[in-house]
Amino acid sequence: MAILLPPLVLTGATLLWTGAFDAGEAEVRAELVPAPRKEAPPDPAAVRADESGLFAVLEYHRVGGDPSFAPEWTISPEDLWAQLEYLYRNDYHPINFRDLLENNVEVPAGKTPVVLTFDDSSQTQFTMVRDEAGRWVPGPDGVVGVLAAFHREHPDWPMRATWFVLPAAAEPNNLFGQPELTEKKLEFLVDAGMEIGSHTFWHANLEQSSPQEVQEQIVRMNRAIRQYIPGYSAVSLGVPFGAYPADVSLLRRGSWDGESYTLKGAADVGGGLAYPPGNRLLSPYRVPRMQAEPAKGNFASFASHFEAHPEQRFVSDGDPDTVTIPEESRVYMDAEEIKRSGKAWREY
Ligand SMILES: [Zn+2]
Repeated sequence: MAILLPPLVLTGATLLWTGAFDAGEAEVRAELVPAPRKEAPPDPAAVRADESGLFAVLEYHRVGGDPSFAPEWTISPEDLWAQLEYLYRNDYHPINFRDLLENNVEVPAGKTPVVLTFDDSSQTQFTMVRDEAGRWVPGPDGVVGVLAAFHREHPDWPMRATWFVLPAAAEPNNLFGQPELTEKKLEFLVDAGMEIGSHTFWHANLEQSSPQEVQEQIVRMNRAIRQYIPGYSAVSLGVPFGAYPADVSLLRRGSWDGESYTLKGAADVGGGLAYPPGNRLLSPYRVPRMQAEPAKGNFASFASHFEAHPEQRFVSDGDPDTVTIPEESRVYMDAEEIKRSGKAWREY
């Protein structure tokens, strides 16, 4: 299926970041505006809530830049915007990858979560430029500029994405190039509510690594990010090349040089649609993804699949603390596990 939305014309002026996430401003607003009253979630049958269903973890690499370089791994900013428009108009809602692993699905009632993941921390994803006042802001061409502009145009589409980054790859994949701006970039991502996941220290092939090397790659990645974000520890890992270590339990926990780690899950490089938290078919260390570059055709197949089979979609009940399913989906779900995790369980 072709995505029929015309790509929007993007200009630098419309995409420049205006600093709406300025911390001081947010604090002032928080004092003046009373917290919104939590409304009761709607009748699950009315929105056909089904939190046993499938959803997509989309995977991206290069964004914009020289189109003749690795075109199959590249999406233009215009095509990325068109995909976001499609998702927005078809009742999808973005969450971070870790939200899936932690069963923290904050998605409005009736909508389907979608996870945007960006691998390899290339500068094409996140370049900073100076605005007219001389402040560093996301440039218009990278993913962050597109996500920020999209959020401004659609405030109910939050900036959520997971960045599987490489601290020690060769420039420009060493944390988005521009080494003098690394701290600003990582802080920006975290402050905006996005997730910095691990892609190992330098894109190691974990299948060809010794157990000690696997653990070293994960610990050194955490240490590198802590130089910029105190206390950082990755929750999730994008497995480079989809090449898994022989002992997959090393992705769950391990230690190196006196430092231990625990990861809650890992993303593969392909495989199709994903199962949600609580579904017995979810394998948290082998979560499948769909490569979303237009040349791959997977975005179109994901979109057309759910257009033909809306009954297979995960549909949120609007309450992240309750897992709601229709009775006939009970066989897929581990209700006891969900209750043990502190969530309420509801069938209708
Ligand atoms: Zn990669």
